[in-house]
Amino acid sequence: ECKLQLVRDHIRPYQDFPKKGILFRDICPILKDPAALTAVIDLFEEEVRRNYQTVELIVGLDARGFLFGPLLAQRLGVGFILVRKKGKLPGTTLSVEYNLEYGKAEVEIQEDAVAPGQKVLLIDDLLATGGTLFAACELMKKQQAEVLGCMVVIELKELNGKDKLKPQSIFSLVQY
Ligand code: 5GP
Repeated sequence: ECKLQLVRDHIRPYQDFPKKGILFRDICPILKDPAALTAVIDLFEEEVRRNYQTVELIVGLDARGFLFGPLLAQRLGVGFILVRKKGKLPGTTLSVEYNLEYGKAEVEIQEDAVAPGQKVLLIDDLLATGGTLFAACELMKKQQAEVLGCMVVIELKELNGKDKLKPQSIFSLVQY
């Protein structure tokens, strides 16, 4: 489809970023081109209307989930909430720790961000190992929210993030 091709054409690979041996997929060109950004949100919206009609909240992951999430939420007429890295949110927060290649990280939400039973859809730019989305799903479970699924622009298939996130459903636009 031509919208998908437009998205694909606006993902720029960078060899050896942020360190040697990593091929980084940069989504900045998507944001710079209004047609490509519209295509991303159109495709996400179509998927929600097909498969997630009961979504009540979009949950964006720090930081690039914040670029796409609010646009999708507005299209759908639902709210947007933030899953942030530790220490960024005021008030009472809940957190979940997760492992990085070296060391640990923590994601947080505001305690009153989501109510028990609310149906949420998580969004980020890219799925790699799935560690980040897994931690965000754990946060949602802590709050007894119902995770309908996760959406990303890009999935790196060889890292098996989908397996880590099972049984959550993962929707991606572009796969490598
Ligand atoms: P994971 O937790 O699935 O291993 O890593 C996914 C997280 O790392 C996402 O929040 C994503 O923004 C970031 N990330 C890892 N690799 C890349 C990449 O190549 N490109 C972009 N844009 N983000 C990446």
